[in-house]
Amino acid sequence: MIWVCEPLLEEEELENIIQCIRSNMISGSAGEFIREFEEKFARYCGCKYGVATTSGTTALHLALASLEIKSGDEVITTTFTNAATVFSIIYCNATPILMDIEPDTWNMNVHEIEKKITDKTRAILPVHIYGHPVDMDPIMEVAEKYGLYVIEDAAEAHGAEYKGRKVGGIGHIGCFSFYANKIITTGEGGMIVTNDEEIAEKAKLLRNLAFSKEKRFLHEYIGFNYRMTNLQAAVGVAQLKKLDKFVERKREIARLYNSLLSEIDGITLPVEKKWAKNVYWMYGILVEPEFGVSRDELMMELWKKGIETRTFFIPMHEQPALNKMGLFIGEKYPVAEEISRKGLYLPSGVGLKKEDVEYVANTIKKIKERVS
Ligand SMILES: *Cc1c(COP(=O)(O)O)cnc(C)c1O
Repeated sequence: MIWVCEPLLEEEELENIIQCIRSNMISGSAGEFIREFEEKFARYCGCKYGVATTSGTTALHLALASLEIKSGDEVITTTFTNAATVFSIIYCNATPILMDIEPDTWNMNVHEIEKKITDKTRAILPVHIYGHPVDMDPIMEVAEKYGLYVIEDAAEAHGAEYKGRKVGGIGHIGCFSFYANKIITTGEGGMIVTNDEEIAEKAKLLRNLAFSKEKRFLHEYIGFNYRMTNLQAAVGVAQLKKLDKFVERKREIARLYNSLLSEIDGITLPVEKKWAKNVYWMYGILVEPEFGVSRDELMMELWKKGIETRTFFIPMHEQPALNKMGLFIGEKYPVAEEISRKGLYLPSGVGLKKEDVEYVANTIKKIKERVS
């Protein structure tokens, strides 16, 4: 079976973990790997501060909580994303406001943001979908104009660049995930990066149940336990050394898919804008009507041939859990709806061999030839 995405762990990850066990440094409060991982990952993103967390979801929640986003506040984000993006806004009792997406990058349509701004808007939360950076300049301009925070959800985009700058380091806060299928992994894990010392301090406080520095068991805030363990950070430190190599491998895989799939009628390929470095976290394609086989049928046929694929996200405005709260009722985001119906992603793990990619592409070609 060729899986959609498998992590690549090696000897150094293991050695670092052994070091944690031998030294008894395993928690989220003890051990040097956490600090090392935070410092090095933040620096990688062009940021001064890193705050490691238990997941990408908790990184997003911690980011919003550190900015004191609360009930009555509105946060503008995309309908086409992992549910964690919108759930993190709900955790703060704030109101998510959705945007439709661009048909080519599948990222939020940044030129429509201003229309959604009200006097309750506090933040914009762009998501760099499947590793392609969002067009950040227009977002930063609108944010500046209205005094809003920008929180980047970069959970799928470690190492991606916007006009030569690493994503996650462009807004006020960047949030990352280190789940097993993300570009680098700690099993479960996440991180906030920022250049704002005050935000970083607040995030560190809230991550650790808001134990006050002056008097340990005194709490000025409702905090969380979102501490990453030293064991996870030990894996992260080893993975981080390979991040650039992994990004290069993802891009090689994408180039190979591009060249093999480009002549197939009815398959739309992912793009890379002039100003972007796409890291192709997942290599997504759209199955158009001209292909002759529906997206779901294609996935089934590929599965039978030993190839795992996955559908695109279901838009947030179509989620029962959110509709039940009275959110997004009757709202329409036609581009996201269409992309969601047509999209799937192909095996994209950094451990894939050239032959695997060729096998996937050839299998798609054969299915197409059969129906033509
Ligand atoms: C994976 C992901 C998250 C959540 O990260 P977890 O570590 O799984 O909690 C958030 N946003 C996006 C866009 C993601 O892809």
